[in-house]
Amino acid sequence: MEPEGWPGHIWLEGRTSVHLRDHQPRPSHMPRGPAAKTGEGFLNPAMAPARTRSVLLLADALENNWLVPEDKIVRVLDALCATGVRPRRWRKEVPHQERLRITANDLDSDALAWGQISHEKHPIGDGIDWIPEPSRFDAKPQDSVKDGIQWINGDAKRLMVESPFQWIDLDPFGSPVSFLDTAIQSISRIGVLEVTATDIAALCGSAKTSAARRYGSIGIRDAYMHDDATRILLGVIARIAAMHDKSIHPILSLFDGHHVRVSVLLKRSKENASNWRDKIGYRIRSEPYHFAAIPSGEFSGPMWTGPIFDADIAGRMTAERALEICAGKKEDYPEDWTDFDIEHSQREIERSVRHISESAELLSGDHLLVAVDQIGIAAGIGQIPSLKKLKSGLEERGYKMTQCQMPEPMFATNADWQTVLEVARSAE
Ligand code: SAM
Repeated sequence: MEPEGWPGHIWLEGRTSVHLRDHQPRPSHMPRGPAAKTGEGFLNPAMAPARTRSVLLLADALENNWLVPEDKIVRVLDALCATGVRPRRWRKEVPHQERLRITANDLDSDALAWGQISHEKHPIGDGIDWIPEPSRFDAKPQDSVKDGIQWINGDAKRLMVESPFQWIDLDPFGSPVSFLDTAIQSISRIGVLEVTATDIAALCGSAKTSAARRYGSIGIRDAYMHDDATRILLGVIARIAAMHDKSIHPILSLFDGHHVRVSVLLKRSKENASNWRDKIGYRIRSEPYHFAAIPSGEFSGPMWTGPIFDADIAGRMTAERALEICAGKKEDYPEDWTDFDIEHSQREIERSVRHISESAELLSGDHLLVAVDQIGIAAGIGQIPSLKKLKSGLEERGYKMTQCQMPEPMFATNADWQTVLEVARSAE
């Protein structure tokens, strides 16, 4: 039976045709903000960049074999898939489909039915099919696979307890904390956990009691709150992982408009897990800020103080690669798409990875994050030089500098604070 409101109208996200409900407006090509502003919860177009990066990461894992050896398959779960856009994009856009076992799960049967019928109406047609394995507690295999995706209408926590996965995506409404423990346990010896958090008030320091309850953290609303938000979430993941003898290695950690999104590699190792506290600390508001194991003065945390990117993996996430894998091809475009739509969708795909490969090296090691607006007063100058001038000034002195994907203008550098101020004064 067709779900209510079917078929709605067709939109292309990446290379994948999605059906929007009739009352959901045609997305602008660069939608920002929470679902309420961009089209209600069913399918939030503002999350398209996060889904694009997820496609690219999974493609990279298969291409470069950093998750499993070349001849092995990867069991991938979108635990809270709603209308299944992400698993459908994994299925359509990731090369090496023969090595994927994709499961799409959600409690909402309407959203899931919408996803299933969308998948049926836009088949992949490569003949890939597989038989699900029995769950840990059940001799019979789980729900059947349709055109390469196993659709399950159930509770994510139950599913993750029942079956092991090597890749789990958690994209809940609000905070992901209630799903973290089960997801981390479900992940096999090695696996990737991708987590979205939209409870920004808690993570960025304005909802203090929620922050204390969910994350055990204290935030400060200042220029560094978005970086704090990312690191507070990573810190909680590291702590829960350690409880299960696992350690985390962040691959990509971003604050993107209205949500935090982190992707980490989890590995079972009692020894590394025992040292989890080594990379947990506080951001102390001195000038410049610094991380410390013990809080003092004005501080936020506890949070992850280690690297937030993997240099190699994030370094390969270039605009060229994003376009190669995720840009629509002629046969994908909806009938009513104009040249304008095509050009803008390509720009959106490029925007999804903006600053990532350039900042991969710095963000995968110790670096100083500089909020550009703060330089003026600190350096005692009337006008802050352009980012271009700051970059060339720092590079002339032998340092690296790169803009970061943040809501405010920010850059990362391996120069010290005094050098940043000197460069700002001399470039004024
Ligand atoms: N990932 C989706 C996407 O990219 O379009 C959006 C997911 S939406 C933000 C959150 C989803 O979590 C909702 O569809 C809701 O039905 C689902 N959900 C909430 N609690 C759940 C649970 N315990 N098990 C499975 N699904 C759940």
